[in-house]
Amino acid sequence: MAAKDLKRAARRIDELRQLIRRHDHRYYVLADPEISDFDYDQLFSELEELERRYPHLQTPSSPTQRVAGGPLPGLDQVAHTVPMLSLDNSYSRDELEAWHARLCRELGRNPGGLAAELKIDGVSISLVYVDGRLDRAVTRGDGTVGDDVTANTRTIRQLPLEVDGLPPLIEIRGEVYLARSTLKALNRERREEGQREFANPRNAAAGAIRLLDSREASRRRLGVWCYQIARSEGYEEDSHVASLEWLSGLGFPVSPGLERCSGLGEVEAFIGSWEERRHDLDFDTDGIVVKVDSAAERTALGSTARSVRWAVAYKFPPEGRTTKLLDIIVQVGRTGVLTPVAVLAPVEVSGSTVSRATLHNFDEVTRLGVRVGDTVWVAKGGEVIPKVVGVVAAERRPDARPYAVPEECPECGTPVVREVEEVALRCPNPDCPAVVGARFRHFVARGAMEIEGLGGRLLEQLIENGLITDEASLWDLEVDSLAELPGWGELSANNLVNELEEARGRPLNRLLFAFGIPHVGERAAKLLARRFGSLEALAAVGPEEFEEVDGIGPVIAAAVAEWFANPRHQSLVTRLAERGVDPRMEIDDGGDRSLAGLIFVITGSLSRPRRELKEELEKMGASVAGSVSGKTSYLVAGENAGSKLARAQEIGVTVIDETELAKMLDG
Ligand code: ZN
Repeated sequence: MAAKDLKRAARRIDELRQLIRRHDHRYYVLADPEISDFDYDQLFSELEELERRYPHLQTPSSPTQRVAGGPLPGLDQVAHTVPMLSLDNSYSRDELEAWHARLCRELGRNPGGLAAELKIDGVSISLVYVDGRLDRAVTRGDGTVGDDVTANTRTIRQLPLEVDGLPPLIEIRGEVYLARSTLKALNRERREEGQREFANPRNAAAGAIRLLDSREASRRRLGVWCYQIARSEGYEEDSHVASLEWLSGLGFPVSPGLERCSGLGEVEAFIGSWEERRHDLDFDTDGIVVKVDSAAERTALGSTARSVRWAVAYKFPPEGRTTKLLDIIVQVGRTGVLTPVAVLAPVEVSGSTVSRATLHNFDEVTRLGVRVGDTVWVAKGGEVIPKVVGVVAAERRPDARPYAVPEECPECGTPVVREVEEVALRCPNPDCPAVVGARFRHFVARGAMEIEGLGGRLLEQLIENGLITDEASLWDLEVDSLAELPGWGELSANNLVNELEEARGRPLNRLLFAFGIPHVGERAAKLLARRFGSLEALAAVGPEEFEEVDGIGPVIAAAVAEWFANPRHQSLVTRLAERGVDPRMEIDDGGDRSLAGLIFVITGSLSRPRRELKEELEKMGASVAGSVSGKTSYLVAGENAGSKLARAQEIGVTVIDETELAKMLDG
């Protein structure tokens, strides 16, 4: 390969990175993309391809490097240089006026100007940029010490990792959040995977930013809004609003709805304008933050040990409507998870009548302190399923008794278990009628085995009549016995048997998903099916092998291994195979092919056998040739290299030594 090519590649890589950064900013910050997703993907994969071909041109702030490698053992604790103080809250216009009056007293006059911003309901974060690069991101923690969450913060696509025009050191404060639409999609996925759903975007964001695996964090699609410069070396600006506008101009996502107000009257108009409009935003807001605009005035006002005097949060009243909580019932899902559900006196919320609302889990019931008979706040908050968000304590009747968390499954009476690291309570009885029913419904659902002729009521009928006992027994169903069931006839019986016949051919990933293995959604099922190719192969390996699959974390790996180790499931797999349900899939071993297409020539004496190096290179997709030509990508030269080295230098082929080769082989 000629040096000319290398230079051209370096130039193109630089160009692509700038283009991608620009389009990221337009897409994630301005929500005004200039190019289609397809064109963006083209640019991205061109960059990935070039960085694969020229690994030494890779840099940590390249857009391809947002997601770092493996899981961290734990999060490091970091002390904040400037403490992250909290804000005092005010709940009425009167309290806001009292705060303002105190300001005027302290300053001896009205402040020069105020800034009003939306208060985003997320997780506060400190972002330190050194020489224009994101150096460290730390959670608020207790305000003095927080967790180092740099790896996960890098996955936030809204946030620029490298910025031209920043001073040598700057610390920016922001709020990490999860969009309502993202939470909705995430909860849908989690429902499918039999995982606990998040109660609200803030909980989900708080969990995601502290995940130990940034690949998983990246899947949560977090966002961030910057709202403050905490310190800087080499940037001076008295006005807070002007400093945020400056950040915005540099490409930072800045808190939307920012406004400079001349006085309290304008702040109140700002509050009024957002009181309703905020519900149309795709993220949760719980109030307005009012700040003194001038840095000099802020310094004069100072802070207490806990909070700053120059800013205050005005909190909106809770969303939704109030109604009476008539009862708390418990539903049992496919994996045995018990979910508390509120039965309500019907009330209209966001355009529809609501008489049931989720309480998520029993910890949430305890957190809310909700009792049967209470008046409660019910809201939809961007989700389909309404939820109980609060209790009107003043209206509690003296005889309302605290809710007792169930100790037994309401369907089968088996004592419930609380699993380690899980908030959920579970019925461990695999024969629990609620669990069996839900499991069958999942097995035949869309995306799983997709047997449309088996709606919920028909399934129940088959279970009740003892015609089906496990998933494999579906293929024992016969037209004659089905046709005799009340409501069935020859035709519908025939249709179902034909449909089951056809379902034998569903691909392995669909069957794997249909099993309803905890944490295994459609995506994980696909990855596992492609890598192992058959149920037999999946049953034969342990969690370590599952974890080697890109995209499969330790939690999924352990769950899959546990599922296949269960004698009950082993017998199910055998019984399915006996009935011709044993799909196979072509195997893709998913190994590292990052050197694909490169041609190496090896010469001179090296510390390792040439045959060994050749094998390793080929495993990663490269080929090894005997002589140097214009097509050669790299010449690996050991000691006493002779004519091949001379030839390579003559025609401009890149020459590397053994150490550089080892680096490439390590990926
Ligand atoms: Zn049960």
